[in-house]
Amino acid sequence: MEEIVASDKNLSKAWAFAKLKHKGQKRLTGEDYVYHALETARILMEWGLDKSSIVAGLLHDTLEDTDTSLEELNTKFGGEVAHIVEGVTKVGHIRLKGSQEAEFVENLRKMFLAMAADLRVVLVKLADRLHNMRTLHVLPLEKQKKIAKETLEVYAPLAERLGMGEVKSELEDLGFSYAYPDDYKELLQIAKPHYAKTGKHIREMQTSVTRILKAEEIEAEIQARKKHLYSLWNKLKRPDIQGDFSKINDIVAMRIIVGTVKECYLALGLIHNTYKPVPSIGISDFIAQPKPNGYRSIHTKVFGPGQRIVEIQIRTRKMHKEAEQGMAAHWAYSEAKSGDQNKTKILQKGVKMSEEKLNWVSQLVTWQEELTDSKEYLEAVKFDALNHRNFIYSPKGDVYDLPERATPVDFAYRVHSQLGNYIQAAKVDGKMVPLDYELQSGQVVEIVKSKNPRKPNRDWLSSVKTMVAKREIKKAVRS
Ligand code: MN
Repeated sequence: MEEIVASDKNLSKAWAFAKLKHKGQKRLTGEDYVYHALETARILMEWGLDKSSIVAGLLHDTLEDTDTSLEELNTKFGGEVAHIVEGVTKVGHIRLKGSQEAEFVENLRKMFLAMAADLRVVLVKLADRLHNMRTLHVLPLEKQKKIAKETLEVYAPLAERLGMGEVKSELEDLGFSYAYPDDYKELLQIAKPHYAKTGKHIREMQTSVTRILKAEEIEAEIQARKKHLYSLWNKLKRPDIQGDFSKINDIVAMRIIVGTVKECYLALGLIHNTYKPVPSIGISDFIAQPKPNGYRSIHTKVFGPGQRIVEIQIRTRKMHKEAEQGMAAHWAYSEAKSGDQNKTKILQKGVKMSEEKLNWVSQLVTWQEELTDSKEYLEAVKFDALNHRNFIYSPKGDVYDLPERATPVDFAYRVHSQLGNYIQAAKVDGKMVPLDYELQSGQVVEIVKSKNPRKPNRDWLSSVKTMVAKREIKKAVRS
């Protein structure tokens, strides 16, 4: 990394500046503090981010921990870099303080605002947190726990929302091992034979799948993807699983990476020809219908050798990169296509492509402008934005993400605040359902509209899950 930095004028200038400013500061590892900044910059470079982000990575702690002023950064490195470092310093004060909710809320607010203004701020912060988590072992136990929990509650969900699957998994597993060390060690032991057994089945299948694809001249890379421990832990806790490993089909999944979309579907057909798909839990086609965070792949579950259920994920190389790196990968592509300037534009405000993916961010910003009551905002942020989401489709095929257990009424208000005022009935997958029906991922919801607007039913308030529905219903009932 130091050689890369030395070979670039801007980077070496920033590196020299950071070394000078952090001089004498040590981390608990005994290493010079400034190497933390270097590692942060390295992560940003691996994510394919632009020069300004990498420079900001080198300088990210200078405002907070040294006598550097914003003006100094501005003069030496330009407004863009100064702006990112300033943003990182501000959002760096996010802390989960338990009882002091107000402060937590205020900080989340700052973070989301900064995020909507320039996403590079959040990416530098994520890289900073990732490196801190990788070196967390040097901190005292109590601090480890606190930082790990904060990582699980704030940073890993953020990485997920940005489609950065690889970062999310790493943050989660590191966070898990420090926040719940006993559970972590126990699961690590218990899961070992299950990983080994499933891994063996996948390798057996691998030979035959390779042969089947080769016969049709499809060149494929086949991997065994281990479910990471934190998500395994969460799945085992689900009421329908109750710790039963035999109910988990994807502890190790087969991942097939091919060249083109056409080959994805071809591979799917060839595999189903040999290994029968499991009825009922079947196929999810996230290529035709990507998840709201941009994730694309085909998932299928088939009966493998010995009638064992095996999950298979099929994707192109490009989709694979996107699934691992998320937004960062998009930016790398857009740069390759149209140069640095366009990329900067995308990063700054989210033009076209990222606009849709960042819907939830702009929604948070709207909320934070509208909601003055901290408590309500906290609920909105905690329960709408960071919780697990379901993906619900409109009859036209538009996809909306809603919190778990959301109802058709939530769906209507999410689509349009006006649609909520015309709800007569709702159909899910073509069948009539009551309006407090709890939606599940993948369902198609159709709102049967009344001719004229009607007042929402006050009773809906007890079943809806989203803030937007609650707010609109209250508003309409009042008027
Ligand atoms: Mn830092």
